[in-house]
Amino acid sequence: MKDYGHFIGGKHVAGTSKRYGDVWNPSTGRLKDRVILATASDLNSAVEVAKQAQPAWANTNPQRRARVLMRFIDLINSEMDSLAALLSSEHGKTIIDAKGDIQRGVEAVEFYCGIPHLMKGEFTDGAGPSIDMYSMRQPLGVVAAVTPFNFPGMIPLQKIAPAIACGNALVLKPSERNPGVPLRLAELLIEAGLPPGVMNVVNGDKEVVDAILDNPTIQAVGFIGSTSIAQYIYARGTANGKRVQAFGGAKNHMVIMPDADIGHAVDALIGASYGSAGERCMAISVAVPVGRDTADRLVEQLIPRVRSLKVGPAHDPEADYGPLVTKAALDRVTSYVEAGLNEGAELAVDGRGLKLQGYEDGFYLGGCLFDKVTPDMKIYKEEIFGPVLSVVRTENYEEALKIVDDHEYGNGVAIFTRDGDAARDFASRVNVGMVGVNVPIPVPLAYYTFGGWKRSSFGDLNNHGSDGVRFYTKTKSVTTRWPSGIRDGAEFAIPTMK
Ligand code: NAD
Repeated sequence: MKDYGHFIGGKHVAGTSKRYGDVWNPSTGRLKDRVILATASDLNSAVEVAKQAQPAWANTNPQRRARVLMRFIDLINSEMDSLAALLSSEHGKTIIDAKGDIQRGVEAVEFYCGIPHLMKGEFTDGAGPSIDMYSMRQPLGVVAAVTPFNFPGMIPLQKIAPAIACGNALVLKPSERNPGVPLRLAELLIEAGLPPGVMNVVNGDKEVVDAILDNPTIQAVGFIGSTSIAQYIYARGTANGKRVQAFGGAKNHMVIMPDADIGHAVDALIGASYGSAGERCMAISVAVPVGRDTADRLVEQLIPRVRSLKVGPAHDPEADYGPLVTKAALDRVTSYVEAGLNEGAELAVDGRGLKLQGYEDGFYLGGCLFDKVTPDMKIYKEEIFGPVLSVVRTENYEEALKIVDDHEYGNGVAIFTRDGDAARDFASRVNVGMVGVNVPIPVPLAYYTFGGWKRSSFGDLNNHGSDGVRFYTKTKSVTTRWPSGIRDGAEFAIPTMK
C-alpha cells in the first residue's frame, strides 16, 4: 500500500497535510492505497509554481505546444494496457471499458493538436481609412479543473488538453477515489516535453476545492461531478470573479416508439443502462415505452437479459460490468432499490445481495429492473448512478416528450424509432442538451462539444470541441491605423461607420 501525494512542478510531493483518504480496489473490496488530502497551503504552492511556468509556455509557439500533445498521445498509447489496468483497479470498470475511457480522452488530445488553427483570430483589412482590425485569443493564465471518479482517464484529459494547448498552466484536482491515472498522465506529460509546472495535480477533497475557488490567481475552473456540488462550485467560483463551467448529474431517458425494433432497443438499453455498472453521466436510467403493447414487449425481453448480465471483477474479460466504486456507493444504490419498493414500483429483477466466489467483499450489485415507475417517485426524480433501470410507461408520444422535458436534468436522451418524422420532431423539440436517434449514449465526439441542459450544467460554454478553446482563452480586439499620424482633428462624437 502506498500514499498518493501531489505532482507539483514536475515532481511528486507529499505536501503539508496529515489527512488521508482511502483508495479502494472495488473488485476485491480491499483497501488499495491512501491519498493525501491537500491543504490550502499545498494548493497555493502549486498555484505559485504554475504562475511561474505559465508565461514561457504561453510564449511557446502553438505548433510546439501541439507537438508536446502529439508525443503525449504516443506515450499514452504505448502504455494503454497498464493505464487501463490501473484505472480498473481503482474504479472497477472492466478493462475494455477502461481502455475506452482513456481512448475517448486521447481523442480530445488529438483534437487540440490542431491548436495553431483553433486559436487563430480574425482580421479585417481596411475596416476604415488606413484602419485594420484583428482579434486574437490569449490564454487566461493559471486555470484549474476538478473532476469526478467515473471517468478517471477521459475527463482529466478533456480538461488538460484544451487548458494547456491554449497556453495556460493547469492545476488538476482529480477524484480522491481514483488518483492513480491522473498522476501518471502528469508524469507522461513531462516525458512528452511539457515544461515542469505547466500541469500540476493536487489531490484532496472539499478543503482543497474551496482553496481553488478562493485563490485569486486562478482565472477559471472547469468542474464535472454531481449537481449539488456543480451548483456550489459555480456560485462560489463566479462570486470570486472566476470563469466557471460546471457540469452536473443526469437522468437520461430512452423513448421507445411503437414502431421501434424492440430487439435493437433492448440491446441498446442493456449496454447503456448497465455498462460500467450504470456509473456514467450518459447512462440510460429511464426507459419510456410509448403504448402498452410496446411496454409489455419491451419488459418481457428485458427481464431475461437483465437476469443474465454477467457481473465480475474488473479484470474478468467475460464480465459485462464490474463492481460499484465504493461500499458507500453500493449502499447508496441499494437504498434506492429499497425506496423504489416502498414507493410501489414493481421490481421485475432484483440484483441485490450478489456475492461472487473469491470476491465476497467486492462492491457488486446485480442488474435491477423496475417496472411501472411513476414521475413522482424518488427513484425517478433522483440520479441513482448504479445498475438500476426504471421503466416509465406512457400512452402516447406527447406524454413521453413531456416526461423527458419535465425532468430537472437534461444531459442526454435517446429515441428509438423507424419513423423519421417522429425522430426529427423529437430532436428539435426535446429540452435536453445531447440527443441520440437510435443511438443510446449520444456522447458527442471530441470535435463537437459536450454539455447538458437544465440542472445538468451551470455556466455558458460546453466541454471540449471549439468551446474548450473559448473557455480557456480570452479574446482581444485590436484596431490599428497605418500610416500613423494622419491628422483629422479631435473627434468628440463616437466614430461610426455611417
Ligand atoms: P462528486 O460531485 O462527488 O465529486 C466531483 C468532484 O468534486 C471530486 O473531485 C470531489 O473531490 C469534489 N467534491 C466532492 N464534494 C465536494 C464538496 N462538498 N465541495 C467541493 N468539492 C467537492 O461526483 P462523483 O461522485 O465523483 O461523480 C459522479 C457524478 O458526476 C454524477 O452525478 C455524474 O452524473 C456526474 N458526472 C457528470 C458528467 C457531465 O459531464 N455532466 C460527467 C461525469 C460525471
